[in-house]
Amino acid sequence: MSTHAVSAPPKVNIAWGPIIWMAFLHTGALLAFVPGFFTWSGLVICLVLHWLTGGIGICMTYHRLLTHSSFKVHPGWLKYVLTAIGCCASEGGPIGWVADHRKHHAYSDEPDDVHTPKVSFGWAHMFWWMTPDVTCDHTPEYYKRWAPDLYKDRGLRFIDNTHLVYPLALGASLYFAGQYYGGIGLSWVVWGFFARTVLVLHSTWLVNSATHVWGYRTHETRDDSRNLWWVAIVTYGEGWHNNHHAFQTSAAHGLDWWEIDTTYIAIKLMSYVGLASDVKVAKPEKNSARATTGVSASSISQATKQAIATPSDSISTTQNVTGSPTIESNTEMLTTSTTA
Ligand SMILES: [Zn+2]
Ligand SMILES: [Zn+2]
Repeated sequence: MSTHAVSAPPKVNIAWGPIIWMAFLHTGALLAFVPGFFTWSGLVICLVLHWLTGGIGICMTYHRLLTHSSFKVHPGWLKYVLTAIGCCASEGGPIGWVADHRKHHAYSDEPDDVHTPKVSFGWAHMFWWMTPDVTCDHTPEYYKRWAPDLYKDRGLRFIDNTHLVYPLALGASLYFAGQYYGGIGLSWVVWGFFARTVLVLHSTWLVNSATHVWGYRTHETRDDSRNLWWVAIVTYGEGWHNNHHAFQTSAAHGLDWWEIDTTYIAIKLMSYVGLASDVKVAKPEKNSARATTGVSASSISQATKQAIATPSDSISTTQNVTGSPTIESNTEMLTTSTTA
């Protein structure tokens, strides 16, 4: 079914703001090749912040919490702190990110997908966001259509509107902390801000590009999603992307014993200490049956499209657009544990 949002006439605008920001980050990251900027403490900060902003901020918060409601966090303000950490990955504000990703799930590898490698690998990896009128112009209408639950949350809207402040504040903090630590502020900025951000960006982008091209398919989803071990390593479990497309609301993306999913481990650890609850998990024993029938992915896709095609201001429709079709379709496949 075609809707006015996905069938609008193509109009190409160049997203100069994001392009300049990304060029700035990549240029700064080149300084990591200058030996004079290297320090071991800078490298450690790079790795820790890669996990914190990429793993906790993007994979766990932007994706599994905000996009798919795979679990809940407590207390309520923790959601905003985690979202601000996600902003430090420099992948844009949370509402735009979530809207783009939900549209990807609704039209995976179809013409209206925001980033399918069927156009080209480079397009799926990073060129798609450079022409937002073709794929995903971040207007209030776009937000209300694809992420109405987030758009009506004033806290998330504030963070979305100020998303650039957080990475800039982190970069400034790294400089002053490094100077205080031992006059190595520039090293901490080069490794902890520039190099780390670029590594996080390309790690995340590999989920959109590589895991729709390479790897194995456990489930017969209607898209080309695949499970790819080396992307799972650099994205803290997000590389088990075929599993994710088959069971979109599952907090666990790794579903076989070898599919290590450190983001799910982090969610479980949070649930043990009362910071997370209602953790949805796909039942592994039913995977093979679902894989042979392909029921899960096709039903999820259809339910999501139907919800999107009939927008309404009602709360029930809002929930539908934001994931209830997926949740309902997955109900019999998911177990939910409430520990908080
Ligand atoms: Zn995908
Ligand atoms: Zn997803």
